[in-house]
Amino acid sequence: MRLAVVIAAIAALGALGAARPAPVEYSLAPVFEGDVLKAVAVEVRFVGEADGDTRVRLPNDWGGETELYRHLSPVAAEGGEATVESPGVLLIRHKRRARVTLRYQVGSGYPGDPPAGNPYRPVIRPAWFHLLGEAVFAEPEDRYQAPARFRWRDWPKDWTIASDLDHHGGRRLQVGDVLQSVSVGGPDFRIVTRPIDGGDVRLAMRGRWDFTPDRFADLVSSVLDAQRRFWGDKKGPYFVTLIPTDGALTQVSIGGTGRGDAFAMFATANATDSALRYVIAHEHIHTWVPRALGRMPKEDEAGSYWFSEGFTDFYTYRTLLRTGVWSLEDFAKYANESLSAYDASPVRAEPNSRILKDFWNDAQVGKLPYQRGMLLAFYWDAEVRTATNGAKDLDDVVFLMRRWREAARTGDEVGYVREAFAKAMKEVAGLDIAQDYARYVDAGEPVVLPADLFGTCARITAEARRTFERGWDPEATSRAGNVVASLKTDSPAYAAGLREGMKIVRREAGVVGDARVEYAVRVKEGDGERVIRFMPEGKDRFTMREIVIVPGLDETARKACAARIGGA
Ligand SMILES: [Zn+2]
Repeated sequence: MRLAVVIAAIAALGALGAARPAPVEYSLAPVFEGDVLKAVAVEVRFVGEADGDTRVRLPNDWGGETELYRHLSPVAAEGGEATVESPGVLLIRHKRRARVTLRYQVGSGYPGDPPAGNPYRPVIRPAWFHLLGEAVFAEPEDRYQAPARFRWRDWPKDWTIASDLDHHGGRRLQVGDVLQSVSVGGPDFRIVTRPIDGGDVRLAMRGRWDFTPDRFADLVSSVLDAQRRFWGDKKGPYFVTLIPTDGALTQVSIGGTGRGDAFAMFATANATDSALRYVIAHEHIHTWVPRALGRMPKEDEAGSYWFSEGFTDFYTYRTLLRTGVWSLEDFAKYANESLSAYDASPVRAEPNSRILKDFWNDAQVGKLPYQRGMLLAFYWDAEVRTATNGAKDLDDVVFLMRRWREAARTGDEVGYVREAFAKAMKEVAGLDIAQDYARYVDAGEPVVLPADLFGTCARITAEARRTFERGWDPEATSRAGNVVASLKTDSPAYAAGLREGMKIVRREAGVVGDARVEYAVRVKEGDGERVIRFMPEGKDRFTMREIVIVPGLDETARKACAARIGGA
């Protein structure tokens, strides 16, 4: 008995000693050849394990990218002997608790400018860089939550350098923060700071855009401020980066990744500020949806995307509208894009099992949980209002989910979003949504919205339309360098003279998805060019719904309308 007490006391002392380990110190320096940035030099200092060897994980697989260690020079170790245990893992042998310093350089992951999409590999250009922590920094094993320090070393005075590692938000920096960071620099980066609820947002961007950094900072800060006020539980500084990516000028590409206290964004130069703002608004809502509300299933996660993506879109719309970032017309425009894409979608009535199977394989299926989930959120919002005589709405339901999530003592106690949402609907409005789940989520029955969903200030109209039929396969055609591929011979485009193998120079008229607008494509023909015009009408008809803001509302009525749709 006595022995056990002594052992317990020693264990407690050990735990105390382990609670304040020495910080892992990181630094980042430039490697120039003349004026040209060739690489960045990384230094990682830490105290080795008591048993004399410390395993270190190098950048490897992250965000769909693999073998990120390929962009690292061999790692030099001081204070220990490094051996490669496996690709991406070093074993450092050292004296017990020895001070170890690792040094290596990181080169660019791309031969030129970063490509369109999500360039997560290190970007090192002659006069600028963009680095995500996971692609650059080594992590001594099991130190993710250990304290960390970060500093910049030897950067030229005329370079602007910025990172979310510059602010710690009043909280001690941890190794995990360093890994989940974004750092940029170059003489032509512009930095703009704006106040938001509970802190400041700092924007760092470069490149030529249709908007100024000041205008972009205004848009971004208004969104972040609105969403922080809505949820009311996030404080501290925020950081946003925007860099241009290289891409075909016929397409707009916007990518990005959330960094906890930052958002790293990539876009082709033709992206508009309103499209960028929408992406930031959606991604920032993911700060809360779904993680702050409930657990996503580990397996078959896509089966709950109707919640995690659909409710994220619903709250993106709601926060943008209720805070005046969007006008009623902006809201109707975006909501109608989603509504009409859903109504016209050939997969709109597919069951949830199809989403599980094809979310990543089929672009239309990939959009379905966003569309279906958002419509369901509107539908359930109306159900809650009706059931509670207007006293409550969907906000009360998700806020209750958040309270349950916070009250859970362990991760295991956190309910799955599907079950938690059903339970909260019952609690807030007395509604049993088991039937709704079976019909609309699982079986995929198209969601019907009542015509008076938004009261009297906005109507939902329905109209019979023709399906949109371009005639050719846009993806296969784009892959073939805009040479028409997989053209249907019974399509209006074929009847108008378009043939497989013709090269499309550009589209001169038409709206993708809208069969009512004439399409015109300029194609190469011999040494010249020719424009082919046709109505992009498919054989089928469908019912298309549209949200119409009642015209002629006065200012008071418009405010009331925005408050109702926005849930204020
Ligand atoms: Zn999302």
